[in-house]
Amino acid sequence: MFSKFRNIIQSFSRQRNGSSNSHFPRSENPIDAFSLPDRIEMRDAFPEPVQYPILPDHLALEVSYACNLHCMMCPRTFEGVPQEVLPPELFEKVKPWISRFKYIHLAGYGEPLMSPHFLDYVHAVRQAGSRPVVTTNGLLLKGKMARRLLEERIDCISVSIDAGTPETYEAVRGKGTFLKLLDTLRAFRTLKEEASSDVFMVWVFILMKSNYRELPLAVEYAAELGFNRIVAKHLECTLTAEGFSEALFDTGYVPPPDPEIIQDLERVKEKSRGIAEGRIDIEIHPYQMGSQGACLVRPITNLFVDYRGNLSSCCYLNVLNTRPYLEPAPEDPGILGNLYQNTLDELIRTKRYSDFQRDWIEGRVPEVCKGCVQLRRMGEQNLFPLKATAST
Ligand code: SF4
Ligand code: SF4
Repeated sequence: MFSKFRNIIQSFSRQRNGSSNSHFPRSENPIDAFSLPDRIEMRDAFPEPVQYPILPDHLALEVSYACNLHCMMCPRTFEGVPQEVLPPELFEKVKPWISRFKYIHLAGYGEPLMSPHFLDYVHAVRQAGSRPVVTTNGLLLKGKMARRLLEERIDCISVSIDAGTPETYEAVRGKGTFLKLLDTLRAFRTLKEEASSDVFMVWVFILMKSNYRELPLAVEYAAELGFNRIVAKHLECTLTAEGFSEALFDTGYVPPPDPEIIQDLERVKEKSRGIAEGRIDIEIHPYQMGSQGACLVRPITNLFVDYRGNLSSCCYLNVLNTRPYLEPAPEDPGILGNLYQNTLDELIRTKRYSDFQRDWIEGRVPEVCKGCVQLRRMGEQNLFPLKATAST
């Protein structure tokens, strides 16, 4: 099995390097997994002739679907919010392939730190020679969990905090205490300094109508708490009625935001950049991220495994109601298959996977993506017909 997988790596690496002699421990894709340029052009990143499948370098593992928050824009609200975690027997099915990925992102729709197996998974990723990273809401980043994460030399911790005040935090995140979270992050900073850890800390702020004015406050806090970077991004692929109406871009499902709001947003961005200058790296995603063939979720170089073992190119494709407002509802669930039935290697060597990658690279929207609001943030708006309004 490994040799087949290695063949894929080598063919991809040859394609990039024009050489067939080197050893390639894993794929090194040209698109940075954790930092986005203003516009991404995936087609340009993979020059002709492209050999399929292209091996992704980034695997996200949904280690927990359980969560201690209830955010207004969270897609998991569509699925009845089961408090499930990725079981060790499923992790064992992924484990043989871990070393082939540069990054293992231990995150999905739930809160990863709620999994009782989380630290074991981080350890296993590190042992396999891959780089463990996590996205968390930060509430449990304390005590033994915090110390062990530092001991395991986790590479990057992204903390999702879409607010600068307790009131907005509660409104967006459903519950939780903003001030307590800040205390937790202060204590984590101290632990980090004591451990001389260089873990890269990212504050992630999802820009929405309810909270965008608080971005400057968040930048202040992030700088004060020793974060390395703050990333302000738009809703990538909202699935809830609240999410659609909160979006600061034209989703195509509800009326677009007023031009005054967009102008105000630009002022807020400028102010935030000023506060960040010389103190913290700031990355603010633009309204439009790329042209056709440039989904910012980078479906060509990412893979996602959910807690049920479903493998897909993007975490939106295996949420059952990814395209809830399309009529008729698509029959294709969007996944490549399930790891209880097939190995990861088998699933990425399918025609279905190559066709998906080829569609993106050749400028076609794959059938399974039609209806996704992400497409609205690309240059071309005529990719597929959208319904005018969302049913709420
Ligand atoms: S913290 Fe994340 S997983 Fe939990 S409800 Fe909020 S968006 Fe969803
Ligand atoms: S366009 Fe497709 S790959 Fe991109 S976020 Fe939407 S469903 Fe995922």
